[in-house]
Amino acid sequence: MLLIGSHVGFKKDTQLLGSLEEALSYGATTFMFYTGAPQNTMRSNIDNEITKRAFEKMENLNIDTTKIIVHAPYIVNLANNKDQDKYQFSIRFLKEEVKRCEELGMKYLVLHPGSHVGLGVELGIKNIVEALNNILEDSSVTILLETMAGKGSEIGSNFKEIKKIITGVKSKEKIGVCMDTCHLNDAGYHVEDFDQLLTYFDEVVGINYLKCIHINDSKNERTSHKDRHENIGFGTIGFDSLIKIIYHKKLKKIPKILETPYIGKKAPYKEEIKMIKEKQFNPNMKEEIEKAG
Ligand code: FE
Ligand code: FE
Ligand code: ZN
Repeated sequence: MLLIGSHVGFKKDTQLLGSLEEALSYGATTFMFYTGAPQNTMRSNIDNEITKRAFEKMENLNIDTTKIIVHAPYIVNLANNKDQDKYQFSIRFLKEEVKRCEELGMKYLVLHPGSHVGLGVELGIKNIVEALNNILEDSSVTILLETMAGKGSEIGSNFKEIKKIITGVKSKEKIGVCMDTCHLNDAGYHVEDFDQLLTYFDEVVGINYLKCIHINDSKNERTSHKDRHENIGFGTIGFDSLIKIIYHKKLKKIPKILETPYIGKKAPYKEEIKMIKEKQFNPNMKEEIEKAG
């Protein structure tokens, strides 16, 4: 079964069950969620009764619960320790986030490695590694480092930096990678030649570390370092290149997650997943969603 989904909401009152239902409404077979708002660290307690009901439903529907992804909020930054309060807060928050993932029965937590903000790449990586070793010490969750576009002083826009972080992490079974096609493109990689890209990734990092792929088109040209996602087939990567990645034989077991922009106030995921399943681009998708809006 094709493992395709999108990021979905996680609301205080419906929690995992609400996330699952949103995903199902898009025709998804997997999904990704933030345990609260992506841009802040306010989090509510996990309701184990709701989690149980969500798991029962997923078992009935044959959804592989080990492939569901949690994304950490973007404001945590493990790379910069100049402001010790912020650095320690990020570590503390991620420890709590790992606990929430465990309570929710979730295996994978995607994390942006961080921005060094003037400290330099080497020191930034050192800070990330120390923080990760601390966080992973008593964790049964695997943290997936996301490949970044290289906006500002972001670390992780090339595979060598990702590799350096992994090398420093003691518990190798608890660290992995989440590729993001928009970020790869904006960082300068040729996403349209994914065979070659995967071969290179395997040489530098090791393909076994790859556990998730974010499927996004890009509003910008390769190497722009912009990080602005575009709907599938409407950007510079294009529909055919993304389809090749989604159906790549080496990536069958890897969940593919859409994080493409809303059209007005409407999520495009039902329509995008339909295009993906049919392998047929609909150039009128945006207008159709707007009209239906
Ligand atoms: Fe991300
Ligand atoms: Fe992403
Ligand atoms: Zn992005």
